[in-house]
This record gives sequence, C-alpha cells and structure tokens, in this order.
Amino acid sequence: MLGLMQDWPLLIHRIIDHAANNHGSQTILSRSVEGPLHTTTYADLRTNALKVAQALERHGVKYGDRAATLAWNTWRHLEVWYGLTGIGAIYHTVNPRLFPDQIAYIINHAESRLIFVDLTFVPLVEALIDKLPHVEAVIILTGSEHMPETTLENAVCYEDWIAAEDGDFAWKSFDENTAAGMCYTSGTTGNPKGVVYSHRSNVLHSMASTAPDMLGIAAADNVMPVVPMFHANGWSLAFSCPLTGGGMVMPGAGMDGASVYEMLETGKVTITAAVPTVWLMLLQYLEKEQKRPTTLKKVIIGGSACPRAMTKTFQDVYGIDVIHAWGMTEMSPLGSLCSLKPAYAGLTGDAKLDVQEKQGFAPFSVEMKITDDDGNDLPWDGKTFGRLKVRGPAISKAYFKGEGGEILDADGYFDTSDVATIDPEGYMQITDRAKDVIKSGGEWISSIDLENLAVGHPDVAEAAVIGVAHPKWDERPLLIIVRCEGADPDPASILDFMAGKIAKWWMPDAVAFVDEIPHTATGKIKKTALREQFADYRLPNTDAAE
Ligand code: AMP
Repeated sequence: MLGLMQDWPLLIHRIIDHAANNHGSQTILSRSVEGPLHTTTYADLRTNALKVAQALERHGVKYGDRAATLAWNTWRHLEVWYGLTGIGAIYHTVNPRLFPDQIAYIINHAESRLIFVDLTFVPLVEALIDKLPHVEAVIILTGSEHMPETTLENAVCYEDWIAAEDGDFAWKSFDENTAAGMCYTSGTTGNPKGVVYSHRSNVLHSMASTAPDMLGIAAADNVMPVVPMFHANGWSLAFSCPLTGGGMVMPGAGMDGASVYEMLETGKVTITAAVPTVWLMLLQYLEKEQKRPTTLKKVIIGGSACPRAMTKTFQDVYGIDVIHAWGMTEMSPLGSLCSLKPAYAGLTGDAKLDVQEKQGFAPFSVEMKITDDDGNDLPWDGKTFGRLKVRGPAISKAYFKGEGGEILDADGYFDTSDVATIDPEGYMQITDRAKDVIKSGGEWISSIDLENLAVGHPDVAEAAVIGVAHPKWDERPLLIIVRCEGADPDPASILDFMAGKIAKWWMPDAVAFVDEIPHTATGKIKKTALREQFADYRLPNTDAAE
C-alpha cells in the first residue's frame, strides 16, 4: 500500500519560490565586485533568476547542459545558480585559485557551454579561452557601465543580457534526481574529480543542515557565507538561507579582516561561516584595531580543524559561540557539527573546549562509521582511531564520468580518507587525513592534534606538522611554525609549552620556522608542498624519540 501524499519533487527552484513568497522583502546585501554595496530581496532575486532562465533558453541552453561560474559570493552569482537549475541546467563552480591548467581541465572535463565570470577573472578567461573548445559565450557579471575592454570575442554583459527578458517564465519540472550542480574536488594527487549534486540531494541537505543543532538558521538571522560558493557547494548556504528566510550578507572578494568586519557590522550579521584562515585574519584585525563585532552570535568553522585557541578567543574575548564543523565536497558538504548536547551542555572552561575540538555529531541523513584497514567496525569509545566512512542521500556514489571507479564499499559507505575517533555520544573527532598521519614505530600520531596545541602558544601564528624519515621509528613529527608578527620564540619554549599536554612519544622531534605555510586552493595546509620543501631535512637528534 502506498501513502496518499502529493508527488512534489524536491526541486531547487521551490526554495527560491518559497523565499520569494514567504520572505519576499528579506534582504541580500552584497559587496559588489565593482566596489559599492548592493541590496536586493528574495523577491527580486527570484525575478532575476527567472530572467536568467529565459536568457539561457534564448541562448539554446537545455536540460543537462553545464555552465561554469568563476565568481565571488554576490547576489548575481545566486541569480545564476537559481536560473540555471530552474531549467534543469547545471551550475559548475570553478575555483579561480587553482592553477590555470587545472581550471582549463575542469571546464573541459565538465564540457561547460558558458562561463559566468566576475570582472576579477576576465583576464584569466582571456588567457584560457583558446583551450576551452566547448565554451560558446562568456557572460561578464557586471553592468554595461563597467564592461571591460576584452579580447574575448563572445563576451556578453550580464545586466544587458537579463534586461532583455521580462521574467514571465515558469520553472521547468523534472525528476528530483536531475543533476543541479558540480564542484570538482581539490584532489592532491591526480586530476580533480567532479562531484555532481542533484536537486534532491541539495534540498534534503539544506533541510537537514538548517536544524537548530546544525547551522541553526532562523528567519531572524542574517547569515554571511564567507566561504566562497566555489568551495564545496558553498556549504549549501545559497539554499539554506532562502529555505529558512534568513537574510544573506555576501562579502564579494573581500576576505581580509577589515572587509569581513565591515560586512559583519553593516549587514548586522548573526551567523557566519568560513575556514580557520579567514577567522585568523579577522581576529588579528579585531585585536589590532581594538574592535568588537556587535551583532555576531555564532561562527561556523570548518574545512580544516579549528584550533582550540581560536574557539577560546571567540568565546571568551568576544562572547561569540563557535560551532566546529566537518564536511567534504562529496558530502554536499556538511557531515557533522559540534553543538553541545545535554551530556556536554553544562561544561565550562577547558572541559568545554575539549569537546569543541571535536568535529561533532552527524545530522539526520548522514550515517558514519569507523573501521580498521580490513573494513571491520571499530568501537565508539572516543579513543580508537579508524577510517571514517559515511553514507546518505547527499553523499556521492560516483564521480562525474566514472573517474576513480567504484567509490563505495559493499554496504554503500564512502571512505572519506579521514582518520577519526567517535565517542559514546556520537561526537566524531578527526585525528588526521589518512595520508598525513605520522606513523611512528607502528603507532599513529595525529598531526592535527599537534598543530592545534602549537597554535595555542602566544607567539605562534600558524603551525603544520609533517612526518620526516627516522632510522628507528620510520617517521617522527617535525613542527613547522609561522611566528606572530614581531615575535621571536625559541624552539624550546614552544616544546615546553606542549610538554605534558600530549603523550611524550607524540612530542615533535624538532621545530622549524618558515615565513609562510603553503595553502591549497581551498585554504588547507598543503602538506604535499611542505613534505617536498623538507624532503632533505634531517632530524638533528635521531635518538630523540627514545
Ligand atoms: P574539501 O572537500 O576540499 O572540503 O575537503 C574535505 C576534507 O577537509 C575532509 O575530508 C577533511 O580532511 C578536511 N576537513 C574539513 N573540515 C575539517 C575539520 N573541521 N577538521 C579537520 N579536517 C577537516
């Protein structure tokens, strides 16, 4: 017997329709790429998205076609996502920080027919266009008054392009499993692989992620996604905010401390989200300028482990809650968030920070397990490390064009390549990437734990730990430090600071200072580059681990 409820496919345009109908006057404040701030509403955003859909059809874009975006977080980027998905075409975000050859590879692999590009990236597209045989037109996200001189023969001015339409258009209807978006994983080895989201996965993921213990977004909130829309599906905030009616504040290209602070204040932001690097810049700015955010209540921090010292500063100095989050491009991307359940809610001080260092528990729609290398389940005791595996309706089952082959195990779980513990309350803690864990004498040392500890030292701005060859122990940890401006700590003071807080055999064998730690295009520490840089490094005392 079947249920007698209506057949209502989970399509993304229902989200923007809902926002326009129920929260039509709610605002989206953006820092435009041209400079001035710009305000629109969900009602107007929907009208412009309908115009984008009309213009796409006029251009001959059809169901299943891909269009790349090389763009910052602005209202125009949102209009383009909704316009494309509204006709069953696919937004394909491209990370402009990748190497140009990788960008060309990604656009060609996806066979994107159009590129929507911000003014910032026009020179990049000009340099690449000869290598992009599928691209028929480049739509420059600006008005005619700002159209640049360009060598692109097929350049179109976005505002003129949509001004030719009247918005009198009905969204297309199709199966909810239709592809909606694509995002290539940063992949440290081999070519990037395409993750393909569906309408259904995006809608379910957004519904699950707005729950109070997850992102916890309400119509009264103003949410600033500093995380770019080209990182991991923009953490799905382009859907979660209109779905709840929360306002949006889009920071455009400004990620430095001063710009982020200005948008926090101007947009009366209550919730914001980004990787730790962004928050490091903001905290440095606040300290230097003696400023305080006045409306911000909650910062969602993920993409890399959130250092304990960062959580402490946000909470103790500024009274702003930190929610540590974990996820992956392949997971749409949210996998877990660290809200405090009743078992932990009463904690204070260090005991609370201990829990907040964990990446948290899964929302409904994500199932997790940890296994050993043979696939046997490991206990949720908060101590045993294992490979973290996940399954759910917004988690990849394959990459675009079958790259990478079969990616699920016999039970349908995807191996995240992360190594983690899970405690009896279901709080997962990443101990490392499988390839970054330091293997010392057959035991594992978590590079992330050491990094988190080291950045608690007042003179340390950033820390990275890699394993270096050791004649007896295979590998031992080397701690690589970027000093705070003007500070000159000696290695012993950093090691003294760490001693006693971790097992003795986890202590780094040496400390090296660098001016800068390399980052990947998605803001993670580039361990591969550090390993190359220190390939010839020899530990000063090879007996140190004994
Ligand atoms: P990406 O798909 O580029 O977002 O990368 C996903 C990977 O980032 C995960 O598999 C983790 O290794 C790492 N990651 C994301 N969030 C966290 C976090 N909160 N703590 C530690 N690692 C994280």
